[in-house]
This record gives sequence, C-alpha cells and structure tokens, in this order.
Amino acid sequence: MSSQTGSDDADLHFSANDSFDVIVIGGGGSGLAAAAAAGQAGAKVLVLEKQPQLGGTTGWAVGSISAAGTRVQKRAGIHDDSQSFIEDMAAFTAELLPRDNPGLRAMLAREAGPTVDWLEDLGVAFAGPYAEPPHRVLRMHNTVPGPRLILDRLERAARLSGAEIQTGAATQALLVDANKQVYGVTYRVGGHERRVMARGGVILASGDFSGNDTMRQAHLASAAARAVPINPNNRGDGFALVQPLKAALCNMDAIFGPQLRFRRASRLGLNERMPTWPWLAKAAAFFFTHAPSWMLKPLVRSLMIANMSPSERLFEAGAVLVASNGQLLDPSRPAHSVAHTNDRTGYIVMAAQVANQFSALPNYISTAPGIAYAFFKDYARGRPDLVHSAENASGLAVALQMDEFSLASSLGVLAKTPLIALGPVQAMLTTTEGALSVDEKCQVLDANGSVLAGLYAVGCMGQGGMLLRGHGLHLAWAFTSGRIAGNIAAQSSKSD
Ligand SMILES: Cc1cc2nc3c(=O)[nH]c(=O)nc-3n(C[C@H](O)[C@H](O)[C@H](O)COP(=O)(O)OP(=O)(O)OC[C@H]3O[C@@H](n4cnc5c(N)ncnc54)[C@H](O)[C@@H]3O)c2cc1C
Repeated sequence: MSSQTGSDDADLHFSANDSFDVIVIGGGGSGLAAAAAAGQAGAKVLVLEKQPQLGGTTGWAVGSISAAGTRVQKRAGIHDDSQSFIEDMAAFTAELLPRDNPGLRAMLAREAGPTVDWLEDLGVAFAGPYAEPPHRVLRMHNTVPGPRLILDRLERAARLSGAEIQTGAATQALLVDANKQVYGVTYRVGGHERRVMARGGVILASGDFSGNDTMRQAHLASAAARAVPINPNNRGDGFALVQPLKAALCNMDAIFGPQLRFRRASRLGLNERMPTWPWLAKAAAFFFTHAPSWMLKPLVRSLMIANMSPSERLFEAGAVLVASNGQLLDPSRPAHSVAHTNDRTGYIVMAAQVANQFSALPNYISTAPGIAYAFFKDYARGRPDLVHSAENASGLAVALQMDEFSLASSLGVLAKTPLIALGPVQAMLTTTEGALSVDEKCQVLDANGSVLAGLYAVGCMGQGGMLLRGHGLHLAWAFTSGRIAGNIAAQSSKSD
C-alpha cells in the first residue's frame, strides 16, 4: 500500500464512471457516517470496504454514545452543555491531558449532541440516557439492537442519496499530484485494480491498527502488543497509505488496555439476530429505558454473548486467576498477566460459595455499562461454555485439561473445596488510540502542521491525539468526525 505520485497520474483521464465527488476508504461507523453526510449534501460518493461486509469494529461495539445537549436528554428533563461535557471527560484522563488535543476535544463535546440528533433523524432510536460517573449528568445513549441499527440507517441514507458502496474492495494507494494534492485512489476488487478520482476529497475511515502485529509491537507496551485484537481485520492500512505523504502521527503508544474478556460465543445473541426495523428499534429503545430489570433478562443474556469483561470484584472476593496450564497469575493486573502467558488465555477460579455471592448488585460478573448487569446464574444459563464446576482441584484439572499439581498449588486451601471456574478469559484489545494528526475540519496534517490537501481522516484513523477514555466516546467521535468530514468534502467538491 502506498501513494502514487507524479505528473503521469495527474494527466490520467478518468471517465465519468470513475469520477466521484468524495471517496470514502472504509465502511465502518465513521466511513458510513461520512458517506451519508456527503451524500445528503449532494455529493456523488463512493465507499470502498475491503471486507465482504460493512461494519468494521463498529459492528462489534456495544453501541454506547456519550453526548451532551441531545434531544434524548431534553426529553428526559436533563439540561446539559458542551463545557461541562469537556470538564467531565477531562476527569477520566486527568493525567493524560498534556498529551490530548483540546481543540478536537472541544469539537467532540460541541458536535456529538448534534450527531446523536442527526442519527435520530435517520431513524436510530436511543435508550437512556444512562449515568456514567464522573459525568455529572446522564449522557450515555444506547442503541438497541446495538450499533447494527446505526450502521443500517447510515448505509440506507448513503444509498438513498445515490452513494455507490463496494465491498471486497481494498484500497491500495492514494493518487497524489505534483502539488501534493490527493485526487483519487487505486483499489483492488475481484482480482482487478481500479483507479477512481475524487474531486472534493478522499476520506480515510479505515479504522485502528489493533490487528497489525508489527505495528502493535513497534508502538505499544508489551502486554498490549501481545494481546488478542477483537477485530483482527483492522490492520492499520490507512497508516501505510499515508506514509509517502509524511502525515504526522500522534500518540501511537497510547492504549487503554488490554482488558480481560470472555471469549465470544460461537452463536449469535438475540441482540445480534434482532431485525433493525425502525418501529421495532423505537419500541425496543422505549422498553429498554422503562422496563423493570427482570423483563430485560433475555437481552442481558444476549449481551453476554459478546466479549464482556469479568468484574475485578471477583478477585476482591477471593477468586484466583490461573493460566491454562494451572499456574497462578497476578490478579492485580489480570489482563497484563494473561497477555504474558503462552496462549494468552486464563481462567478465574473460585470456591463455589463465592460464585453464589455474585447474584445481586454490587456483585455482578459483567456489565454492559449502565445498561445491564449479568450475574452468576445468567452465565450458568446463557454461557454454559464459560462455566466449569468440580468437587475439587483434581476434578477441575481434568475438566480443563490443566496440570493438576500446578492448579492445586495455585489454589492453596481452596483446592479441596467445591470449585467454579469461569473462562477461558483472554487479554484483548478493543481499539488503539494512535492516529493521524488532523485539524478541526478533519483534514490530515503533515509534520509542519500544514494541511495535506484533499485528504481527510475520521474515526480511529482521525483521532488526532485525543485519548478517549470512558464509555461512548469512540463511537461519538466516529459518527461526529464522519458527519463533519463528509459535509466539508462535499462542499469542497462544489467549490473546486
Ligand atoms: C467489543 C467492542 C465494544 C465497543 N463498544 C463501544 C461502545 O459501546 N462505544 C464506543 O464509543 N466505542 C466502542 N468501541 C470502540 C468503537 O467500536 C470503535 O472505536 C469505532 O467503532 C471505530 O470506528 P471506525 O469507523 O474508526 O473503524 P471501523 O468501524 O473499524 O471501520 C473501519 C473500516 O475500514 C475498513 N478498511 C480498513 N482498511 C481498508 C482498506 N485498505 N480499504 C478499504 N477498507 C478498509 C475495515 O475493514 C473497516 O470496515 C468498542 C469496540 C469493541 C471492539
């Protein structure tokens, strides 16, 4: 992957079929938001997605979006503003503020609310808002059934506006003229290489680099470098595409993780099977916001099908973390210690009576933050593949094919009691934070802070140095930056 430069390319003739106003690289959340916004602004749009299906990491997300000043909040009687949103976000990352990007952070705080309203206008229904301290008011908006609903609405809006969407189409290179203006891309589809031109700009929405082993090792600390990426397909292609342009990179070493997570179930959950019909989504959002918790049980179980994180309360209550060979691991940094095992896999082992304590708040096993909590019985019923019981360490060692001596010595006095093991758990990465440097129009900048004309970056690729700790900020940025860049690139195609 590279940029192709020079007058030969600049002189190339493109037929009308090969010319677009805006080309979007990546059909995840930020890319589809960019395509929908550019299409709504009247641009002729092409989306190139390398996978056979749209969605990217966005499709794996819980679907939480944190935003201030939304209609959802107003309907719930909540008064909110972007300044208090900025202050509360800062409380999550106080020690990292010197490395953050205050301009983009203010833009996120200001524009995430209008983004949520825009998504509502497109037919997305939100449950909530929900609390997430230290946010001073309820700011977390959740979609039911998950981000699939948003992806579906954005794709529909893009297609309705006439956008062309090609899957299985991997972008290979940016086309750059002698003045360093990006004017198109080359991509491969069905074994053929194609060239297309973009009058208004190319929008890089190609996601993060968590799936690229070499980049993880080059930039991240050892535990994160060894962790299992949830989306192995996000291989940092965008970084390779911009390399010849000498685009500036920021905070490549920053990461919030790895996190300990249960392995994903092989079957799809209710949340993933539910149709995305707008009326059903609206009814589901209402139900989710207002129904008593017992009525939400089927959805709670369904959410656990995804890669949920076990609560650290398990270790506080006396659970022990062991490697898959039975060796004792350090529970104070569970994900780090699991990441450094040979197979990056572990089990949480506890006395059966401890497991039974995890049956009511505050003792939950996992949570979809602010939305729902899952307890031991939910796991026993919904994820029996993760629950292993035995009369003692010897029985558990047989069930988990572990070394009996190792397990018994890790468990100490617990070894002779009835036991429950939860797992396998793995050290996983949701997303990396390192990104291209961008300005408040999402235009990509070089090392001197100059704009690389014709090139925008959005979502993870265009995070611009922001360190998004706390829930719901990555999706807020993906949809917000996509919406803004799509609009600006569309306007630029008209003025050129
Ligand atoms: C389990 C999980 C739960 C999460 N939950 C939340 C949540 O609730 N709230 C939140 O805010 N964040 C959440 N996140 C983080 C959030 O999902 C991501 O940060 C966000 O979706 C990134 O969006 P994106 O558009 O930048 O990337 P993506 O959605 O990954 O899209 C990038 C797309 O580009 C494509 N692509 C890459 N290279 C090329 C190429 N060369 N040519 C063409 N296409 C290419 C990829 O295939 C992909 O489809 C979660 C993440 C995970 C893993």
